Amino acid sequence: VRVLGIEGTAWAASAAVFEYDPADPAPLDANPPFIETDAYQPESGGIHPREAAEHMGEAIPKVVEAALDAADGPIDAVAFSRGPGLGPCLRIVGTAARALAGTLDVPLVGVNHMVAHLEIGRHGSGFDAPVCLNASGANAHLLGFHDGRYRVLGETMDTGVGNAIDKFTRHVGWSHPGGPKVEEAAADGEYVDLPYVVKGMDFSFSGLMSAAKDEYDAGTPVEDVCFSLQETIFAMLAEVAERALSLTGADELVLGGGVGQNARLREMLESMCAERGAEFYAPDARYLRDNAGMIAVLGAKMFVAGERLPIEDSAIDPNFRPDEVDVTWRTGEPT
Ligand code: ATP
Repeated sequence: VRVLGIEGTAWAASAAVFEYDPADPAPLDANPPFIETDAYQPESGGIHPREAAEHMGEAIPKVVEAALDAADGPIDAVAFSRGPGLGPCLRIVGTAARALAGTLDVPLVGVNHMVAHLEIGRHGSGFDAPVCLNASGANAHLLGFHDGRYRVLGETMDTGVGNAIDKFTRHVGWSHPGGPKVEEAAADGEYVDLPYVVKGMDFSFSGLMSAAKDEYDAGTPVEDVCFSLQETIFAMLAEVAERALSLTGADELVLGGGVGQNARLREMLESMCAERGAEFYAPDARYLRDNAGMIAVLGAKMFVAGERLPIEDSAIDPNFRPDEVDVTWRTGEPT
């Protein structure tokens, strides 16, 4: 099957085409989706929902056209990210997807963006039943598969991990996105103590962010604050990921989300997994950050499993939780 995927939950206006043969599913490297992305870059501050939606409105038609031009034959279904994400952006993507499905006269498939972050890691790794750490901009949670759904084993009690980092960099006056700048500055930093907040498999960033801003305001070199932010946040994520592996008995971990592009986070997760004899997989950067490739890949599997989203039920959902999704596409696979 050949599926068009459309992504637009926040900053990435992205379209992709993925060809999938369920009888002979090739590895991701051998059969990558074609992806075209147009990124929204705020002139100042963080992501502004109205500006992001304006960008989405302008960019989606262009990226879709590029993806359709690259498609090697007719499209069988249109998959789109229904949520979670910014309502004004999701509405544009939903409208575009419905219109395209109508014009091409093909079914619509509604994809949960966070499940797509997980599934691209499962697809790329070939793992059967991994625990997934989703470390993205607006989210941070651990997912494990149980009884037909991806269950939320643990999650942030306040902001997403990338948003927490971006709030600090806004305070410092750096442009969005802040994550790569923190990673660069951290290379020359030394450790200062910051609050470490883990409760079972849940965690919190708000106190840590206030303390980091206070350190900076008190004159602590920004490199030291960046280094300590990374060490503290990523140690928290590694701890909860390890607890999730231990309590579920899983021996595979996949990483998802834009913060996964950080080499220090990957290094800490890799060494934690090595110490307990678990396998670790992080997709390439282009599949970690928001991208329509992951929507097309999961959309194709859902389509093959018989998923069809009637237009009248296709409203977007800015708070769409991963554990609301019935996992129909893993039938016959190990659980
Ligand atoms: P979500 O997937 O939850 O909707 P999102 O749409 O904001 O989140 P992602 O593309 O998953 O998007 O992640 C973007 C986040 O990744 C931003 O907060 C950015 O600062 C962060 N990020 C990007 N590169 C790095 C890096 N090298 N180190 C740390 N964080 C990074």
